[in-house]
Amino acid sequence: MRLRKPPLTCRELVELVTDYLEGALRARDRRRFDSHIAGCAGCRAYLAQMRATIDTLGELSEETLAPEAKRELMERFRDWKR
Ligand SMILES: [Zn+2]
Repeated sequence: MRLRKPPLTCRELVELVTDYLEGALRARDRRRFDSHIAGCAGCRAYLAQMRATIDTLGELSEETLAPEAKRELMERFRDWKR
């Protein structure tokens, strides 16, 4: 008979955090993740920080990179017309 898996360590949690945020964790690992988060303030802070980072990157790609790419296209178009 297999033993139940032990609770996640902080180190394991850090390795799983990206999968967790992408919803890619299996139900059993997700439960272990959630129960560790519930009892560990350090990992709760880490998770919140990861979420904020992903939000920021999402904004950067839409609001900062897109106008750059658009301007470059406009310049190419202008050169082509001349
Ligand atoms: Zn922890």
